[in-house]
Amino acid sequence: METARRLQKIPPYLFMELRKKINQAKSDGVDVISLAIGDPVEATPASIIDELCRTARDPQNHRYPTDEEKGMLALRREIARWYARRYSVELHPENEILGLIGSKEGCHHFILARVNPGDIVLMTDPGYPAYRASILMGEGVPCNVPILAQNDYLPVLEDIPSDVAKKASAMFLNYPNNPTGACATMGFLNKLVAFARQYDIAVCYDNPYSEIVFDGQERISFLQAPGAKDVGIELNSFSKPFNMCGWRIGMACGNPDLIAGISKVKENTDSGIFNAVQFAAIQALTGETGFIEEMLSIYGRRRELVLKTLQKIGIDFQPPRGTFYLWAPAPKGMTSLEFTNRLFDKTAVVVAAGTAYGQYGEGFIRISLTVPDDRLKEAMERIEKEFT
Ligand SMILES: *Cc1c(COP(=O)(O)O)cnc(C)c1O
Repeated sequence: METARRLQKIPPYLFMELRKKINQAKSDGVDVISLAIGDPVEATPASIIDELCRTARDPQNHRYPTDEEKGMLALRREIARWYARRYSVELHPENEILGLIGSKEGCHHFILARVNPGDIVLMTDPGYPAYRASILMGEGVPCNVPILAQNDYLPVLEDIPSDVAKKASAMFLNYPNNPTGACATMGFLNKLVAFARQYDIAVCYDNPYSEIVFDGQERISFLQAPGAKDVGIELNSFSKPFNMCGWRIGMACGNPDLIAGISKVKENTDSGIFNAVQFAAIQALTGETGFIEEMLSIYGRRRELVLKTLQKIGIDFQPPRGTFYLWAPAPKGMTSLEFTNRLFDKTAVVVAAGTAYGQYGEGFIRISLTVPDDRLKEAMERIEKEFT
């Protein structure tokens, strides 16, 4: 059976070869440690789980979700309070907030709601691979904007040719950035709003790591920039700050027309989020009394350990201050893939090659800090032994 052409355009998963090798090694009894995937291993806070269990017993919640595709108003109100408290951003729960089944879903439905076939959609290289897939499934034309270390991994908007910008109807951005860990500045966000306004580009600012920042880095929302709501939305998520990746809940906030468009797509696609998960999310927002800080101190400790180990083997760099990833240069004279392969073959430690995120990821690897401390320690010991 032939599948649709739009699926054939989606590039093959770059980890495929590696995954084959990993499975082979595991079946040969090798103790593989994967630092390749960003998915917190510590449990979701108990109060959130309790709220899920309590509300799951109420038959009212077994019906289609309240307010269906929008998410229940009680949740949207709590999201508004969270954005006011954490980011000093004012949002109207009625028309500027939408519940999502995770931020990834939002990326996909944003494209369906905004992009016409053949429109250019800007995204960064390196960048989160799901953006490209969403653009292609929505029949848009992905266009990479390089983000480079010398520009603090922020795109240089002036360098985007104006004929490209004119044909673009949307743009994905993500800071704190996966994979580089870079954070945005207010100066950049102000420029972004002006750029989007000039070319009528809808910004989809994907911000699931807004809470995961280190070394005094401020928490930043795109919606803090004056005029941001005129040109775009911000996606956020419960996955990363509350260790809720498997729960599938997030939100879109900002431009009311885009929110209404995405809502229309969802109304005809998924009918919204299980009520009990929404009640649990309300508990996460209202009951946050230090869980995120605790996680940050755990990630901070792991960051130090990895940085120290890399330093010992001659890789010395100043890491950006966001996300639970470390974007580290490969040793001199080695490509990303050579380094990841050598790490795997000699130490059975798996890291992501920078090139999995785009051609400008060459020369880097991404190390995830979402592994138990003892496993990370073991991985670092093996690396130190192999490379010194
Ligand atoms: C993890 C991640 C997501 C997915 O978040 P969900 O809310 O779990 O769908 C989206 N964007 C980026 C950049 C991510 O790293």
